[in-house]
Amino acid sequence: MDKTVNSPTNVIFCIGDGMGFEKVKAASLYAHGKTGTLSFEAFPYQGEVTTHSADAPITDSAAAATAMATGSKVNNGVISTALPGDGHELYTLLECFKDQGKSTGLISTTFLTHATPAAFGAHEPKRGNLAEIGQDYLNQTRPNVLLGGGGNGLTEIEAEAAGYTVITDRDGLLSLDTENIDRVSGQFGDTNLPYEFDGLGDLPHLSEMVATALNILAKNTTGFFLMIEGGRIDHAGHSNDIERNVYETLEFSKTVRVAFDWAKERTDTLIIVTADHETGGLQVLENNGRGIFPTVSWSTGGHTTTNIPVYGWGANAACISDVMDNTDFFNLVMHNQSPEK
Ligand SMILES: [Zn+2]
Repeated sequence: MDKTVNSPTNVIFCIGDGMGFEKVKAASLYAHGKTGTLSFEAFPYQGEVTTHSADAPITDSAAAATAMATGSKVNNGVISTALPGDGHELYTLLECFKDQGKSTGLISTTFLTHATPAAFGAHEPKRGNLAEIGQDYLNQTRPNVLLGGGGNGLTEIEAEAAGYTVITDRDGLLSLDTENIDRVSGQFGDTNLPYEFDGLGDLPHLSEMVATALNILAKNTTGFFLMIEGGRIDHAGHSNDIERNVYETLEFSKTVRVAFDWAKERTDTLIIVTADHETGGLQVLENNGRGIFPTVSWSTGGHTTTNIPVYGWGANAACISDVMDNTDFFNLVMHNQSPEK
C-alpha cells in the first residue's frame, strides 16, 4: 500500500443519513423562517451527488457509505468489500489516514456498528454482521474514537479488553480526561440514541460527542480523520415524521458548527457535509414561519434516487463539482492520488 499519498492534514466527513435537499430546507424554515440558514449552507463550495449502488438505482446506506469511504461501487448491503468482485477488502479513507500515522474516529447517533460508520471502519460482505463489524473496529482498524449507540456487536468487556476506555453516558463523556486518553469507546444505551425531539435523558447530543472527539483527535499533530453521522435523519424519513426529521437535522447542523468552529482558523483541514441518499421523497409545500413545522408531503417510506447535497469548506473543498458521484469523494479527499489497492 502506498502510504505517501497526499491529503489534507485533517478531514471531518459529516454524513446526514437520508438528508436530501428538502430535509435541509424544512429544518431551515423551522429554525429561522427562511431557507439557507443551516451552518453548512454557508460553506463556499456546494453541489449535488449521484448515489446509485452497483446493483440498484436506489442505494442503501452500506453501499453509499462504501462508495464514499473507498471510491468503489458495491452492492446494497455490502460493507467495504469488493462485491461484485472477488470479495477483497476495499481500503477506506479511515485506513488511509491511519496508515499515515493520523488519529481516526467514528461517531454516530445510530448504534455504532450500523452501516454508515461500518463502511469506514470495517469490512464485511453483509451489513447485518454486527458482531464481526464490532470486532473489525476493536481489533483491525482500531479508531481512537468510537462514539455512538451501544450494543449490537459491541460490548464494554470486549472494548476494554482491546484497550479502550469505555463510557456509557453523557456525564462520562463530558468528564472524560481527553488529555490523557487516546482510545475511547462511548457505548450510549443499547441501540440507537433517542431522537432529539424526544429528549436524550442521560445520553449525549451528537454535537457534544464531536466536541469531545476533537479534543482527543487534535492532540495528534500529524492529523486525523473523523467521520460523523447524523444517523437518525434517515429513520425519521422512513417514518415520514417531519418533527423528528427537523430536530435531527438541526442537531446535525449544530454539530457541523462545532467542527467548523474548531477548524475555522486553519488552512490544513477539509470539512465535507453530505448525505448517503434521500429518504422519504420529502417535498416542502409551504413555509409556516419560524418555530412552526412547514407543510410537507412524502412519497415513500423508503429511500429514493434523488441526488443529495454536498457542502465543502477548507483544503481540497474547491474540488467539489456541481454534480459529482459518491465515488468521487475518495479522490477528492486524497488529492487525486489513489493508493494501490
Ligand atoms: Zn434508510
